[in-house]
Amino acid sequence: MRRFTNGPALSLILSASLLLGACSQTPQPVAATPPGGTGSLVASADECRTFEQNPVVVSRIDFRTQRDWLDIVKTFEPVGGSLEEGFVLLDVGKADFERLRVTGLTRGWTVQIDARETQRHSASLKNPLGALSINGYSCYRTVEETYTSAQNLAAQYPNLASWSSFGSSWLKTKGRGGYDMNVLKLTNRSVTGTKPRLLITASIHAREYTPAELATRFAEYLLANYGRDADVTWMLDTQEVWLVLQSNPDGRKKAEAGASWRKNANDTQACGNGLFGADLNRNFNYAWGTGGSSTDPCNETYRGVGAASEPETQNLQTLIRDAFPDSRGPARTDAAPASTPGVYIDIHSYSKLVLWPWGDTSTVAPNGAALQSLGRKLAYFNGYTPSSPSACTPPAAPRTTSRTGSWASRRTPSSWATPSSSRAAPSPARSSRRTRPPCCTPCVWPAHRTSWAAARTA
Ligand SMILES: [Zn+2]
Repeated sequence: MRRFTNGPALSLILSASLLLGACSQTPQPVAATPPGGTGSLVASADECRTFEQNPVVVSRIDFRTQRDWLDIVKTFEPVGGSLEEGFVLLDVGKADFERLRVTGLTRGWTVQIDARETQRHSASLKNPLGALSINGYSCYRTVEETYTSAQNLAAQYPNLASWSSFGSSWLKTKGRGGYDMNVLKLTNRSVTGTKPRLLITASIHAREYTPAELATRFAEYLLANYGRDADVTWMLDTQEVWLVLQSNPDGRKKAEAGASWRKNANDTQACGNGLFGADLNRNFNYAWGTGGSSTDPCNETYRGVGAASEPETQNLQTLIRDAFPDSRGPARTDAAPASTPGVYIDIHSYSKLVLWPWGDTSTVAPNGAALQSLGRKLAYFNGYTPSSPSACTPPAAPRTTSRTGSWASRRTPSSWATPSSSRAAPSPARSSRRTRPPCCTPCVWPAHRTSWAAARTA
């Protein structure tokens, strides 16, 4: 959250820490108006009690501008909210809550604890695991249902589809259940020769249900329309589409059981708040540990004990290497040849952004113009906001590092992260507010199908 603090805000951090830090000793309402501030800084008795009972709370931030929204969602992936309605919901610890409130003073934000969502989040961590369906979200397939669908596609279209393991999840490596990590590869095998590849990874963050379902429907659409639709037929004749439908199956299973779960299921390091595990999207070995992640094993953005320490990350890195032979030189500034084929897209939910590398610096990435051009093209089709992750943040601010897109961009000039969500759901009052909007996928899907298919021309 340091990226939001400037000089005046920095001077207020101590004030906020003193006010909120005194919660356990002085559970009485405290109010102050900082010099030059635009609002009051309040730590109420209710907030103090909430932090005593919940190390992680759901905070609601009402912001003012689209830039505010971009700055927030690039640091914290919201668990809900609406750009149109001007608010986001974030699950944050006390330190982040304090900093958000301080930053809010200079940016005109209102930062509050959402008691109802906090209670829901806390209760979700106590749910028993092992559910075989997603309660309340029947339109999203479970890990097992996703895998069964993919197996069936491979059986139904043996000349167009294959479904294979490329490694094991953390739990499986420990002999504690878990899953294979599988990739669904689509292409017309009758047309031989080297073909460019589109690789899509989905739902690396466990509670983001939508990406896995979108990727599965993309596969079903391509296979059902081969031989019927000229674009689809051309695409599978001349290219390969690799889909990792469930990039974090262990964590996903915890989320499907009702937990608001983001990380993998690595419980090597115990956490009093129950939020163990590593954030796989902060664990990739490029620029690991240089900012935008946490060293606290109980934090939602915990980067892991080392670069690519998690088996899921190692598996994905190996798969990406397999998909895209390295075409760049060793230097960070080395560009890939313009003729380098291939596109990599990592799908998240929810922010309505199309992002491209770099994520850890404001420096334009090699092949930056081409990345921007294709990112804008994708955004044209799905109506999202195109941006490099660092485009709307202060120049000296820390960035988010060791993510999938930046890692993959070391190998190919075309890598994106596209946080997805509903943009025209039938029930906006609900569907626009949650990471897992109920049954919005039929509404989201057509826009993404067109957008992803547009990547074929890259
Ligand atoms: Zn995510």
